[in-house]
Amino acid sequence: MICARYIFRCFKWLERLGDKVTGAAGPFFVGFAVLLLSTGTISFFDVIQPTLSLPLLTTPICSLIALNLIMHYYYACTVPPGFVEDPPREAEHGILWSKKNGPAKDRNLTGVQWSEEGSVKITKAMVTKCRKCGQLKPERTHHCRICNHCVLKYDHHCPVRINQCVGIHNERHFVMFMAYLVLSTFCFSILGYQQMFKALGVTFDSQSDWPYLMPQLPFILIYILSVVLCIAVSIMLSWHLWSICKGETSVEGQDHEVYRNVAKQRGDIFVNSYDLGKRKNLELFFNIGENGYPIYTLVLPLRISPYTDGRAWARRHGYERHRGIRHGEELTDEEDEEES
Ligand SMILES: [Zn+2]
Ligand SMILES: [Zn+2]
Repeated sequence: MICARYIFRCFKWLERLGDKVTGAAGPFFVGFAVLLLSTGTISFFDVIQPTLSLPLLTTPICSLIALNLIMHYYYACTVPPGFVEDPPREAEHGILWSKKNGPAKDRNLTGVQWSEEGSVKITKAMVTKCRKCGQLKPERTHHCRICNHCVLKYDHHCPVRINQCVGIHNERHFVMFMAYLVLSTFCFSILGYQQMFKALGVTFDSQSDWPYLMPQLPFILIYILSVVLCIAVSIMLSWHLWSICKGETSVEGQDHEVYRNVAKQRGDIFVNSYDLGKRKNLELFFNIGENGYPIYTLVLPLRISPYTDGRAWARRHGYERHRGIRHGEELTDEEDEEES
């Protein structure tokens, strides 16, 4: 028993050390990611783009994909995820901000609103107190050990790609960045394979010279990286989209698994009250549709506000809270602290 406790403490210590190392290394990871993204973009427009047919059509499409990729990465890294102590943010009206669809333009972002007939019902979140930072935290808020802040709709802390938390205000940009990364690396791999052979010195025509600004070696490395990233990020993106379809964040995915078992032991069924069905969950996440923003916000690199300020949540019809889990059984961020 003592031995198990000792091992557990060792693991906790290693985990904390890992947090510190990843926290400190974050800016270097981001610097490296910026270098790779810019080298990839230059490689594409220097080496691959000139070989495409219909340049009047393909050039604007490829430029739009590249612009979305870069801007969503920039937003995911720089838009604060939504710390609980920050005041509620209003949508802005600058050049980078999209305009909302008509009817719900002036709706208040906090509390119960637009719950008219047939529409989505949004109710205020339950609030508890964080034992680590003392802030009042609404449902779906979690304390991030690396940032040492409570984050609204905390998904996870991402040190490698964006060096900050993924929360309510940047989760959409994070997912859009992954989607455009998959699309751009897919295009790079499919459209650039002939140039890749050329860079390797394997050509079937008489022109074996390399008349491009980008040297062959970085092009070859970027091409290999594109293929690897396309596969790896596709898997991550699919997993994230599947979680969104279920109305869950990454943390909630793990918690709900536990709740499902607790409910099952009682002969009950766990029902996630944030799950409004796949289509509505996706609409709310990307905030498109009748009460949100126009659908073109999926293809233009614009800023938009989330459907809520993180202090009220859309609920499944007839549910004020999850079914199958009783008061006091909810998992909290403090659990692992108590054991250590
Ligand atoms: Zn906290
Ligand atoms: Zn964090």
